[in-house]
Amino acid sequence: MQKPCTECAGKRRQDEAKQNIRLVYNLLIAHYGPTNWWPGETPFEIAIGAILTQNTAWTNVERAISNLNSGGLLTPHAILEAPDDTLFAALRPSGYFRIKAQRARAFCAYLLEQYGGDMGAMRKTPTDELREELLAINGIGPETADDILLYACERPVFVVDAYTRRILSRHGLCEPNANYAKLQAFFEDNLDRDLVVFKEYHGLIVYVGKDFCRKTPKCATCPLADLLEPDQPWHVDSGNERSRQAS
Ligand code: SF4
Repeated sequence: MQKPCTECAGKRRQDEAKQNIRLVYNLLIAHYGPTNWWPGETPFEIAIGAILTQNTAWTNVERAISNLNSGGLLTPHAILEAPDDTLFAALRPSGYFRIKAQRARAFCAYLLEQYGGDMGAMRKTPTDELREELLAINGIGPETADDILLYACERPVFVVDAYTRRILSRHGLCEPNANYAKLQAFFEDNLDRDLVVFKEYHGLIVYVGKDFCRKTPKCATCPLADLLEPDQPWHVDSGNERSRQAS
């Protein structure tokens, strides 16, 4: 039999990726409905939430944000000028509060210096330039920068987190150690650049990761179970979950 040409095989892989990525979205939105992710009242609150959510559950961030709010600390000036003890006490529920205070202050200093503390002015900067600026701030990596770009600045960039990597790799759609840029390109190259879909897609991944795709996955009841191939280790056979400990 004649082998398919390299170009045809590449095109087929691209079509399959597009199909899979739409299918994952459709199954998740059918299961959860709109998540309206990210929770936050203002672009500044969203940006601070993106910094505080590093390595912690969102419920802990909510407590820290609520402390900042009730203490009148939810402005760039207030975060910079608050005494250490006051800021640490407000951020304590989010964990690593000393480091996070430093990172929140670094972001506020940048915002004041570059844009007079005005998120509206920051949002006028072109996406690539703004991403570079955010990544240059101490303690802001690609995921936090993209959270800020997508949810606080309304830019269609895809946010990748640990759940994204885990879910895709368990379904054979990426390597378990695929890097951030590769995973981001996988989504951005295979989806239309639709802001609402990008926002929702990340929210849905957070939900399914938290509810089902844990270290020990709960495939039997997961909305993505039908996408598992019979030879995939997480495959659900006859309704009996054959989960195994994630490596
Ligand atoms: S829990 Fe199972 S079915 Fe659900 S996303 Fe994870 S590996 Fe897939």
